[in-house]
Amino acid sequence: MITRREFLTASSGSLIVAAVGSRNAAAAERPWYATMRRCGQLNLNERDPLTLDVAGWIDYWSSLKLDALLLNGGGIVAFYPTDVRYHHRSEFLGSRDLFGELAAATKSRNMRLVARMDCNYAYGDALNAHPEWFERNRDGSPRPHNESTWLYKTCMFGPYFTDQMPAIYRELNARYPIDGFFTNGWPSTGDLAVCHCQSCQKVYREQVGGVPPDRTDATSPLYRKYYDAYMNRVLDVWRRWQASVTEARPESVYVGNLGGGIRTVKNVKRLGEVARWFNADHQGRGGDTVIWDCAQQGRVARAVMEDRAITNVTGAYSNSRPTWRHVAKAPAETTMWMAQTAASGMVPWFHWLGGAPEDTRWKEVGRDFFAWLAANEPHFRNTRSVADVAVLYPQRTIAFYRSGSGPRDWRGAERAQTAEYLQGLYYALLEGRFFFDFVHEDDLRTETLSRYRALLIPNAAYLSDQHCRQIRDYVSGGGSLLATFETSLYSEWGDRRSDFALADLFGASADGDTIGPLGNSYIRIERRHATLTGFDGTALLPGPESRVPLRETAAGDAVSLTVVPYYPAFPPEMVFPRTPRTNQPAALFHDRGRSRVAYFAGDVERTFWRSGNPDLGLLLQNTVRWLRGDVRPLVSLDGDGIVETFAWETEPGYALHILNYTNPNMTRGFIRRFYAIGAQKAAFTVSRGRRIAAVRALRTARALPFSQDGDLVRFEVPSVTDYEVIALT
Ligand SMILES: [Zn+2]
Repeated sequence: MITRREFLTASSGSLIVAAVGSRNAAAAERPWYATMRRCGQLNLNERDPLTLDVAGWIDYWSSLKLDALLLNGGGIVAFYPTDVRYHHRSEFLGSRDLFGELAAATKSRNMRLVARMDCNYAYGDALNAHPEWFERNRDGSPRPHNESTWLYKTCMFGPYFTDQMPAIYRELNARYPIDGFFTNGWPSTGDLAVCHCQSCQKVYREQVGGVPPDRTDATSPLYRKYYDAYMNRVLDVWRRWQASVTEARPESVYVGNLGGGIRTVKNVKRLGEVARWFNADHQGRGGDTVIWDCAQQGRVARAVMEDRAITNVTGAYSNSRPTWRHVAKAPAETTMWMAQTAASGMVPWFHWLGGAPEDTRWKEVGRDFFAWLAANEPHFRNTRSVADVAVLYPQRTIAFYRSGSGPRDWRGAERAQTAEYLQGLYYALLEGRFFFDFVHEDDLRTETLSRYRALLIPNAAYLSDQHCRQIRDYVSGGGSLLATFETSLYSEWGDRRSDFALADLFGASADGDTIGPLGNSYIRIERRHATLTGFDGTALLPGPESRVPLRETAAGDAVSLTVVPYYPAFPPEMVFPRTPRTNQPAALFHDRGRSRVAYFAGDVERTFWRSGNPDLGLLLQNTVRWLRGDVRPLVSLDGDGIVETFAWETEPGYALHILNYTNPNMTRGFIRRFYAIGAQKAAFTVSRGRRIAAVRALRTARALPFSQDGDLVRFEVPSVTDYEVIALT
């Protein structure tokens, strides 16, 4: 204890030391994984103990200035001489303790060590000794891996997860200086497995009331109960493992494997409540996946984790379709994936697979990017997002949506279409250069939403009464709202309501079954409105594929757009409107003072995504601008090119991130090279009273001229090749 007299007589020098000390103490209260900025992973195979060059590998990872390195501990294969029964030692381990060697080398270079585990498969000897550890088909047979058929799938509801894995964690913790544990492949955010082992049958009897359907089907009462039982078990196992790994080391952490981008079935909000560290195993893209898939992952993760630890894995190998594990992907693609990770507020985790690579081209790609990150590290320490528009992440609609009225009975791979509403809105927001955040539908509290001028809802068909109450509260508190199509027409599980739960906000009621999907229908412009800027020269706009027929309940002056119903598109002789004009609203725009509400009866955002017709994108962008009203955007960036932007308040000031997607490989990988875009004019609102002393482009390492007028800072970014970060300090 320091007395008042001692305090008063202390020199000013020691007071400064005390102040710095207390700041360090505050930083020290945050766990190590909350402040890490760079992660790496070498993923070993069973044969690696024969040849692995530990020193060479640790030199490489250390050159990336990593905070944490992930290395294989065990699970399927133990890379150390384990004494846990049925924990399979690598058959090439010999007398080596490979994990021990790697652990010592990692710690000697001051990197945190995370043991990479796999809890999903085990060998036949374990199956014989512990049949209760394994998943079963309906006929009782175990489930071998589809390629490595000598491995069998373990069951999360069984004792493998509650007994065997914790025993392995304890053994590893007792022997090695491990800072955390990561499980590959579990729990994931995808579909629920349905297993028929003894443990699962007990769950079905006691908690579910029957065997749930094999596939995602929220129309089934058994599926609904199983979904809750399944989520509860995931959270229970996660908490148990967190407790196991911290028994000996309180500062340790368990991190599961999440990801999925915007396509999730398991409730990421609930996962975020138990996770101390959210790892998105979202390593790359294949086929027609868009380049911004990684940034979307960042937005989903941020919505549920806020400023807690989030990492995203970048696969340095070619994880396309088909996949090649042992050759590098295009360097430009790898760089853009890591750039999106950093821009969206996640921590990059660079990953190579196999200890004896014959392709080493990827090494320099990771080192270049990580060296640049390390040199500019303070500017990646975000304290909050600077965005004035929120996009509702419609978790249940993406997980379960299956319209009752016919055409959208999506199954299997088709279920990915449930995310196309969000994808279409997202693309419109990118083209319109809006600064926005995702908010999860289970986090619509006033504290969350009050920061945003507008809430945008891309067809959240499945919403609970509580979700709808919170949305109504937001609007009555002065917030503006965009909603589309079947938003609120179903309960959170997909039971159809007699009307939209938000009919009062929309100013219209659902009047019959949803119509569509049909091409060749139109939107007629009845009268001018702010949302119709840029449509001179046409009375018609392309119509959405599907729409809800409406019975209008509010004042008719909200109707500027009406429906022209479908008519044949072929043959040309038959192509004329049978009903050229109706009173059926295509959209309603309500101006209630500060709060404005726009409701589109059709799936305009999904139709925009599927068709690519820019009229629909412009209509959405105009609508968002109208919702904002006269309020100036917090940040704006004007110039040519397709970019994605993020704005952050950071520890040293502010950062504007610009990702240049202007590329022929924007919607089909891989990016081979970049096409630089020209000057971008930025206007950035800083806190009242904050004076900016310098504006610097970090990727091109140059100072930028700027001006400040009150709280608005203006500057021009001369060009962006792949990615640029502008630091305002
Ligand atoms: Zn089971």
